[in-house]
Amino acid sequence: MKYYDRLIFELSKKGRTAFSLPECEDGGIPSDAPFMRADAPELPEVSEPDVVRHYTNLSQMNFGVDTGFYPLGSCTMKYNPKIDEEIVSAFNGIHPLQPAATVQGVAEVYSTMDRALAAVTGMKHFTFLPCAGAHGELTGLMLMREYHFSRGDMARTKVIVPDSAHGTNPASASVCGLEIIQVKSNADGLVDVEDLKPLLGPDIAGIMMTNPNTLGLFEKDIKEIASLVHGCGGLLYYDGANMNPLLGIVRPGDMGFDIMHLNLHKTFATPHGGGGPGSGPVGVAERIVPFLDLPRVSGFHGNFGVILKACAYILSLGKENVKMAGKLAALGANYIKESLKDCYKLPIASVCKHEFVFDGLIRDNGVTTLDVAKRLLDYGFHAPTIYFPLLFHQAIMIEPTETESLETLDAFIEVMRKIAQEAETDPELVRSAPHNTPIGRPDETAAARQPVLRYIH
Ligand SMILES: *Cc1c(COP(=O)(O)O)cnc(C)c1O
Repeated sequence: MKYYDRLIFELSKKGRTAFSLPECEDGGIPSDAPFMRADAPELPEVSEPDVVRHYTNLSQMNFGVDTGFYPLGSCTMKYNPKIDEEIVSAFNGIHPLQPAATVQGVAEVYSTMDRALAAVTGMKHFTFLPCAGAHGELTGLMLMREYHFSRGDMARTKVIVPDSAHGTNPASASVCGLEIIQVKSNADGLVDVEDLKPLLGPDIAGIMMTNPNTLGLFEKDIKEIASLVHGCGGLLYYDGANMNPLLGIVRPGDMGFDIMHLNLHKTFATPHGGGGPGSGPVGVAERIVPFLDLPRVSGFHGNFGVILKACAYILSLGKENVKMAGKLAALGANYIKESLKDCYKLPIASVCKHEFVFDGLIRDNGVTTLDVAKRLLDYGFHAPTIYFPLLFHQAIMIEPTETESLETLDAFIEVMRKIAQEAETDPELVRSAPHNTPIGRPDETAAARQPVLRYIH
C-alpha cells in the first residue's frame, strides 16, 4: 500500500493543524452559546499538504468524461462544451434573495429558453419547475391527468409504457397514481402496434414513449401510434432525456406528442451524473398550456446555472450546427456496433441512433457482461451501461459521446475485441477483473443498501 492510500483519519495526529490564524480579537464564540455542541467533532488533524493530497488523490480515483472514454448508454456523457461552464461562472454571484428588479437578465434567459426549447421541440410552452427528468415525468403525468379531469373524463386511470422504457417511466406513473399497462416490443425492438391496439380504450390516460427508444432505435410507426392513442382520447408523453440524436432534425411536437420533458443535464450542456443540480423542463402542446400553473420557475431563480448553460449551448450552436450533435452521435454508435458485431451478440441489427445494445459475447466461454464491464476498467475505459434495458439478459448498452475522435473509438473497439479474445484464451483473467483498480467487485447491493459512510475505529 502506498503511504497516501491511507485514510485521512489514519494520518491524523492529535493537535496537528493545517492552518495558522491569529486569535479571534473578541475571544470568538463563547462556549456556552446556544446550540454549541457538547464535544468537539472528531475530525482528522493533519497538516496542510496532507489535506491537499487527500483531496487531490481522491479526485484522481474518480473516473469522469474528462479522464477517459465513457460510453455509458442511456444516461450518457453527451457533449457538454467547457465554454458553457465558463459562461455560467460569470453569473455565480447572483444571490437567491436578490430583488427581482436587479435580476431581470435571469428572467430574460428563462423567456429566451422558453422560446428556444419550443422551437427545438415543437411544443408551445415550457415550465422550468422540475429539477430532474423523473421530476419532469411526474409533472407531465399530472398535467395529463388534469387535462382529462377538466373535461370530466375521470375514468382515464391507466398509462401505457413500453417494455423497453427507462425505469423512471413506470415509477413516475405509479407515483402519480396511474395504473401501468405494458406494451411489448416487436422483434425489431420497436413498440408493437398490433400489441398496442387492443390496449386502447376509454380508460387510457395516455402513453409514455422515448424516441429514439432505449435501444437507440427510432420508433418509425410513431405517426400511426399517435393517431391510435389520440383516437381513443389519450395523450402522448415524450421522454426527451436523450434528445440529442433528433436535435434540429425531428421535433416531438410534429410526431404528435402533447407533453414532454427534456433533461438539460444530459443533452443540453450540463454533465449527467455530476450529482446535480439538474433541470427537467416540461413542454406542452397548445391545448395543455392552460394547465401549466404559475410560477414556471422553481424557488430562488430555479437551477439557473443549468438553464443558462443550455441557453448558451443552443444559441452558440444555432439551428444548423445543432444537427451535427445527432449525426455524430449516430455515426459513432453505428461505427462501434458494426466493428464489434462479429464478437458480441447483436440482437437488433438495424441502423441505430445515439446508442445500441449487445447481448453479451458471441463465444462467451462463461464470461458474462459484468465480467466484460469490469475488464474494461483495467484498460482505462469506463464501462457501458449493463443489464439495461431488461429485454436482453446480458445487455451491454453503448453510447459514445458525439465528439469522440475516430482514434478514441478505434482504441475502444480494439480493447473490446481484445477482451473477447481473452474470454476464449484465458476466461479466468476476465472473470476475476478488474486487476488494476483501487477496489474490485464490491457487493453492489450492500453498498447501495447499507453504505458505511463513517470512519469507525
Ligand atoms: C436519464 C433518463 C431519465 C431520468 O432522468 P433523471 O434526471 O435521472 O431523473 C428518464 N428517461 C430516460 C430515457 C433517461 O435516459
